Amino acid sequence: MNPPSHDRPPRVLILGGTSEARELSAALAAHGGLTVSLSLAGRTRNPLDAGVATRSGGFGGAEGLATHLRAERIDALVDATHPFAANISRNAAEAARLADVPLVALLRPAWERQAGDIWTEAADIPEAVAALGESPRRVLVALGRNEVHAVEAAPQHHYLVRSIDPVEPRLTVPHARYIEARGPFSPADEHALLTGNDIDAVLSKNSGGAATYGKIAAARALGIEVIMVARPERPQVETVGSVGAVLGWLERLPHQTSPARRGV
Ligand code: NAP
Repeated sequence: MNPPSHDRPPRVLILGGTSEARELSAALAAHGGLTVSLSLAGRTRNPLDAGVATRSGGFGGAEGLATHLRAERIDALVDATHPFAANISRNAAEAARLADVPLVALLRPAWERQAGDIWTEAADIPEAVAALGESPRRVLVALGRNEVHAVEAAPQHHYLVRSIDPVEPRLTVPHARYIEARGPFSPADEHALLTGNDIDAVLSKNSGGAATYGKIAAARALGIEVIMVARPERPQVETVGSVGAVLGWLERLPHQTSPARRGV
């Protein structure tokens, strides 16, 4: 870890791209006594303001992130990226080791199958697309625009594709329609979306969290199959499930990164 300096507030870098990262940014900014910065991959064109200094774009792998940690004299690193963003999480683990910076991951719990759910589990997105089967179906695709092109392997289905930013280039399949929308999505609105478009299958990642759970609840209520993509493997690092637990982790660090110890 960088030796804590007595003439400046401790520096915390949050790797973001999730609502949890924004909430954590706001919570740490409200605490005061820390210099907080947020890093985004730069995938979303108009990211919501997190109220802290924000940088955008890749670091150039684990080595690049380690260089950034040293150059910016970061005292603590929080990986609050999406459960499916496995590469940056691996890089964070390696960079924290290289730069000797304490790291914690903030990871929302996965969704659990409930009574009435009709889930088909898939190990990855290509497996999920194959699980739709041969016969044409009407599918809500909620995968994120960077991975949605995987459905081109099954052009027989009718796809309703939802993403925050436009899918570009458009899919090469003959039957695709597009909705641009940013969550949260309520179960009632998702119910209306599924029935209004005669959807008979939902393609979803097991992202967890409340903001995008509405489609899962609506599919359960309507008896619609969900093809659920399992989470990728993550590095073995200390992991917590809430913004409050990250604050606790910061307070336990053996230097003055803790807002509480700094009397704020
Ligand atoms: P990824 O495959 O793990 O990351 C690919 C590369 O993007 C990383 O190697 C890194 O480039 C750069 N990167 C990712 N997150 C970054 C961050 N917070 N700050 C700076 N660089 C970052 O991740 P992804 O699937 O492309 O996701 C990108 C971002 O979108 C993540 O921040 C994630 O939280 C968010 N997101 C992802 C999903 C998803 O399902 N994958 C869903 C919602 C939001 P370098 O190696 O050059 O540093």
